[in-house]
Amino acid sequence: MQVHVADHPLISHKLTVLRDERTDSPTFRRLADELVTLLAYEATRDVRVEEVDVMTPVAPATGVRLSDPPPLVVPILRAGLGMLEGMQRLLPTAEVGFLGMVRNEETLEAVTYAERLPDDLTGRQCYVLDPMLATGGTLAAAIEFLVSRGADDITAITLLAAPEGIARLESELAAIDVPVTLVTAGLDEKLNELGYIVPGLGDAGDRLYGVVG
Ligand code: URA
Repeated sequence: MQVHVADHPLISHKLTVLRDERTDSPTFRRLADELVTLLAYEATRDVRVEEVDVMTPVAPATGVRLSDPPPLVVPILRAGLGMLEGMQRLLPTAEVGFLGMVRNEETLEAVTYAERLPDDLTGRQCYVLDPMLATGGTLAAAIEFLVSRGADDITAITLLAAPEGIARLESELAAIDVPVTLVTAGLDEKLNELGYIVPGLGDAGDRLYGVVG
């Protein structure tokens, strides 16, 4: 797995405001959205394109357009939804599939509770959105799911990642014969005993949408 930790002062600045416990939900949502657009620029470095000819007002020119089938963006519900618009801003023609996964807070394992994805993902480039790579259970399960449907190139975009999560992804995906890239705005120190990223930013879903139940 290739890991790319963003190294840009604007990204660090926005991430610092996201971390701040005083940042309210509307500001958190706006900053998460802006961060994803910046990360999407890096994450789509290898998006597939095909050559196309156009006529400018002056002369013919050869350029590129996104290949067919278009990329598939997969936000993991619920917190990944807060990253969707930022991604679509850069990839407006991408299709969107949804994967609902929740972490069992006792076992810390991922459970799928909803899925709305094409049955056949053969030849598709997929961009998985999940703000927090903590234990890695959710992202590993999501990536395995997409590969089982035929996806052949997967990029996961996160706001923060923990070393434990990256290690788990690397070991669980070692047997998968599909290139996987992780693009993250920050790599933090560790997980705490509750599975939260330290220093992290708290519960991303709660901070985006308010606490449920
Ligand atoms: N999920 C979150 O929202 N935050 C963490 O720190 C870990 C998992």
